[in-house]
Amino acid sequence: MNLQQLVRKNVWNMKPYSSARDEFKGEASVFLDANENPLNDKYNRYPDPLQWSLKQKIAKVKNIASENIFLGNGSDEPIDLVIRIFCEPRIDNIVAVDPTYGMYQVCAEVNDIEYRKVLLNENFDLDAQKLLEKTDRNTKLIFLCSPNNPTGNLLSREEIKKVLDSFAGIVVVDEAYIDFASEATWLNDLEKYPNLIILQTFSKAWGLAAVRLGMAFASAEIIKLFNKVKYPYNVNILTQNFVGDELDKLELRKQWIATLLEGRNYLINELPKLPFVEKIYPTDANFILVKVEDANSLYKQLADKGVIVRNRNSVSLCAGCLRITVGTDKENEMLIKTLRTL
Ligand SMILES: *Cc1c(COP(=O)(O)O)cnc(C)c1O
Repeated sequence: MNLQQLVRKNVWNMKPYSSARDEFKGEASVFLDANENPLNDKYNRYPDPLQWSLKQKIAKVKNIASENIFLGNGSDEPIDLVIRIFCEPRIDNIVAVDPTYGMYQVCAEVNDIEYRKVLLNENFDLDAQKLLEKTDRNTKLIFLCSPNNPTGNLLSREEIKKVLDSFAGIVVVDEAYIDFASEATWLNDLEKYPNLIILQTFSKAWGLAAVRLGMAFASAEIIKLFNKVKYPYNVNILTQNFVGDELDKLELRKQWIATLLEGRNYLINELPKLPFVEKIYPTDANFILVKVEDANSLYKQLADKGVIVRNRNSVSLCAGCLRITVGTDKENEMLIKTLRTL
């Protein structure tokens, strides 16, 4: 892989914004370099643009070097940045599986990049050859989501491997739900695949969706490109400090995941007993895709009773399907109880 050939020329050649925080990084007693108001102590100073202290903590938890980490305003930020770094508007294209997470296509369209969809097979699994056939010399990115949203399944490791081995561009593997999965993350394969970018997030297993922190893991060279194009202070100090403290609660998070997996089992046991439930798809995430007799009508009936699920009826391969997030024990029981009355 030749990184320079893959990156947009303007991005490769540009000089990044240099902030006051970039120019002077040491200890000092008088800071008159950033036009800040000195009077509101604690929040008056610009935060660390590269979030080194938080990255060191994440590096320990993920067993990876800080230089291989990018932090963004949710995963949505690295999804957008990776497109802006690699794809030339109206010339390059992106290939992704279908159905999958909707933000890849939205970000592609905002950036005026052609987005090519390749249907998953009937088991919602990836066919590497079919995917690669859709690529051409202008395909810069492939998006894979595993466990996939909205289907819930892990994509086959072997097929992902084939894509990584054969594709000359960048492969993004979105692991937003990896903490709920029965297979390991791709993080350990980063060194082996210089064209791999892995996305993870604090929005799901960490229970911090409101805080907005997403992670991208990649080679140090690719991370440098992310840092070049991002907003200088893309992660605010409240988020940096708060998530830093949350990272100490590893034991609690493990318990949460165990609880949610029990809740998932409860739903997997109870849902098929309902007469209008036709199929429960296998899941490695904290949600279940369920095929029912009439998804639109069931969605409305549930909503009328105050229970909101996600109607995926109009999504490719998901006709008749609702996507149900695993809630608290009480919420799961409410859902089942409500369904029994319908
Ligand atoms: C929820 C989700 C995310 C998380 O996005 P954030 O911006 O980090 O909240 C990323 N990818 C997928 C596939 C998701 O379902």
